[in-house]
Amino acid sequence: MGKRIQAVKGTRDLLPPETAVWAAVEATARRVFALYGFGEIRTPIFEETELFARGVGESSDIVSKEMYNFTDRGGRSLTLRPENTASVVRAYVEHGMHSLPQPVKLFYIGPQFRAEKPQKGRYRQFSQIGAEWIGTRATAGGNPRADVEVLLMLWRFLGDLGFSDLVVQINTVGDAESRANYRAALVAYLEPLAEQLSEDSRRRLVTNPLRILDSKSPAEQALLEGAPKLVDHLNEASRGHFRTVLGELQKAQVRTEVSPRLVRGLDYYTNTVFEIVSAGLGAQNAICGGGAYEGLVEELGGQPAYGVGFAIGEDRLLDVLPAATRARALPPGPVIVRALFDAKRTPVEALSTPEAATQLAEELRTAGIAAVDVGAESPARTFAHADHLRAPAILVLGEDELINGTVTVRTTGDRAQRVVERAQIVPYLKQLLLSLSLEVKS
Ligand code: ATP
Ligand code: MG
Repeated sequence: MGKRIQAVKGTRDLLPPETAVWAAVEATARRVFALYGFGEIRTPIFEETELFARGVGESSDIVSKEMYNFTDRGGRSLTLRPENTASVVRAYVEHGMHSLPQPVKLFYIGPQFRAEKPQKGRYRQFSQIGAEWIGTRATAGGNPRADVEVLLMLWRFLGDLGFSDLVVQINTVGDAESRANYRAALVAYLEPLAEQLSEDSRRRLVTNPLRILDSKSPAEQALLEGAPKLVDHLNEASRGHFRTVLGELQKAQVRTEVSPRLVRGLDYYTNTVFEIVSAGLGAQNAICGGGAYEGLVEELGGQPAYGVGFAIGEDRLLDVLPAATRARALPPGPVIVRALFDAKRTPVEALSTPEAATQLAEELRTAGIAAVDVGAESPARTFAHADHLRAPAILVLGEDELINGTVTVRTTGDRAQRVVERAQIVPYLKQLLLSLSLEVKS
């Protein structure tokens, strides 16, 4: 026997029936995002390293310590995508999408890669469901309306998945001017205190001082109590932007909470930033992050444009998916068709019972009913099989059934057994499946 090979640390297999729940969540995303006119984009899983270095920002955690970089045979430096916004913006620029009617609305679903310490809710390959709204011209009423539209879409998606206890933590990091003002004030406040800061924060004091606000250390949070506040350094435009966004979301009954220290890890955000955390998740509690970005499209070689988007961590979303949604996502399993094999008897009409079972299973599939033919499996194994596949019924075909033109049906829900005319088996099963799906939905 060869040595066993296991999935790489931080990666995992998703198996049935869990994959059916993933597919249902993704189908909900596709349906809801289409309601807002978003179309799907699929970008490559690896890109030039420089795309992320420039797009996500050298000082971000992602670029500074979490990227999977490799050199290909041609000596190019490539990176497995750690997030998808930079790639979407690259594609927007590469395909000249600025010349399409604006805005361009794109969503993606797919794997991302980060070299992090694996733990619950934190993997090295994980999946994100995200969307980006990108436009070179301001929308009627100004860009805050774009932020609002994206948040309404996100809120509807989570609502349709059955979440009812979520809150959008929201903040503004201001436009470029406001940020520069604030950055100077924050650095002036923190520099004399540098001794008391962690090594990470001292480094950030130079590279990205706003990120220090994000610190998880209680000691640093205490130091930050007296720090200048971002809201006091916003110019009038940024202040107005934030006011509009908050007002519109309130009118639309999106539950928001202003979170003044929220700055988010990526360098490209301007004005609105937001995050959704779930109480059910423990330490890795963020299920979604997002925000607006002015400057990223230009940074990646395009026309000046406004962008706003979000990324949901699908793995974490699935961990806290409401139980009723999960139950609804699991379709009823296939019916099981079993042959009663009695060697003492002679087969009727040259058709053995296993052959008849195979034929019946095919007939059911033609009628659109999922069926698994288990041949002449023992009763105990058939029950285990039915249980594992969540089969709504077991159909038994023996000699008696062949002779009489019937099928014996055992419904697994109530364990009742009845004899059904062979000619009536399709309508009978359709009725059964319909009643089960009604039960699940109600
Ligand atoms: P965290 O603070 O948990 O590291 P983040 O700020 O790095 O999150 P983003 O870059 O904003 O995360 O990505 C958006 C979402 O993707 C997160 O809210 C989270 O749900 C998910 N996510 C990020 N990193 C991972 C990971 N390593 N494994 C699983 N999900 C992840
Ligand atoms: Mg992270």
